[in-house]
Amino acid sequence: MQDCIFCKIVKGEVPCDKVHEDEDILVFRDINPQAPVHLLIIPKKHYNSIVDMTETDAALAGHMVNTAARLAVASGVAGKGFRLVTNSGSEGGQTVPHMHFHVLGGRQLSGELG
Ligand code: AMP
Repeated sequence: MQDCIFCKIVKGEVPCDKVHEDEDILVFRDINPQAPVHLLIIPKKHYNSIVDMTETDAALAGHMVNTAARLAVASGVAGKGFRLVTNSGSEGGQTVPHMHFHVLGGRQLSGELG
């Protein structure tokens, strides 16, 4: 996806504050953090949203979720609690159309997204 900001981050064309990278996924800090810990977990392959992921992508989705949990532990927020969320589509609040999970922690979250 040529104009996708997260694809540009994957390609190294746009910088990011990288936390983790492997063959399939990239994790970096949100540029506009909504909590003391705010990580974005993205697949390197472009999917518009989680709706575009199918059963074929189950291992990738599982790897993203497991990595989110491991990084929440490593960031020190797992003990008190954190939130793992993905937004899909405009009414879901998605602003970047490249599937991603948010890991939010380090403060008391409440309401829709705290
Ligand atoms: P969403 O609104 O769920 O699509 O989440 C998109 C997130 O991407 C927002 O929290 C933005 O702050 C974040 N974001 C947008 N551009 C960048 C960027 N270049 N680097 C890091 N985070 C970004």
